[in-house]
Amino acid sequence: IEGGASHEFQLPADIGEDRLLLCPQGHFAANVETLHGEQTSCPECGEKLSETKGIEVGHTFYLGTKYSSVANAVFSSAENKPQLAEMGCYGLGVTRILAASIEVLSTEDSIRWPSLIAPYQLCFIPPKRGSREEEEGAALLERVYDELAQALPQLAGDAVLDDRSQLTIGKRLKDAQRLGYPYVVVAGKRVCEDPPVFEVWDQNAGEVLFLTKEGVIELLSKVQVP
Ligand SMILES: [Zn+2]
Repeated sequence: IEGGASHEFQLPADIGEDRLLLCPQGHFAANVETLHGEQTSCPECGEKLSETKGIEVGHTFYLGTKYSSVANAVFSSAENKPQLAEMGCYGLGVTRILAASIEVLSTEDSIRWPSLIAPYQLCFIPPKRGSREEEEGAALLERVYDELAQALPQLAGDAVLDDRSQLTIGKRLKDAQRLGYPYVVVAGKRVCEDPPVFEVWDQNAGEVLFLTKEGVIELLSKVQVP
């Protein structure tokens, strides 16, 4: 496509097919192909550019009036004068964005989605059927959900409950990690403590926190729901 400026959107990744040159300070990034070997240092800070590989996930083109002039695509301006439309086109590799996110962010046994494309933000895992904490744990988890629905209705609408309680917590936690919910709230053994303590997996930080109901709500209130 010909026209004016174009921008590539790349995610740095070792398996990528494109070669990129980046300023270590983040001022500048370009595909080697577009530089014709002329640029070796950052135009802003002068630091040497370092080379990395990248996966292209999007490409935008500014077309200006190249096509609108041919098709005579005009609109009335604020001054009520006919004016040629400015055009652009936006190519986003939808499936490639998913694949590249997994490649760049995930670990060996868990997917880490950016919250914008996570299937759900939150997964609740109640105790295993027949366990000592089954009844109390399920009721307490429900109470966390009710309070969440009050305090953070958007997040509550972006939550799932894994009620396959015939499975162990460990099995369901593994599945949750493979599906990549950013947060997993587990009612494990410690829900029988006073006050009850929940296990919260912060998938993207790769850490597990032990929190009371209030602590869970406080943590989740910082989550940005897309
Ligand atoms: Zn720089």
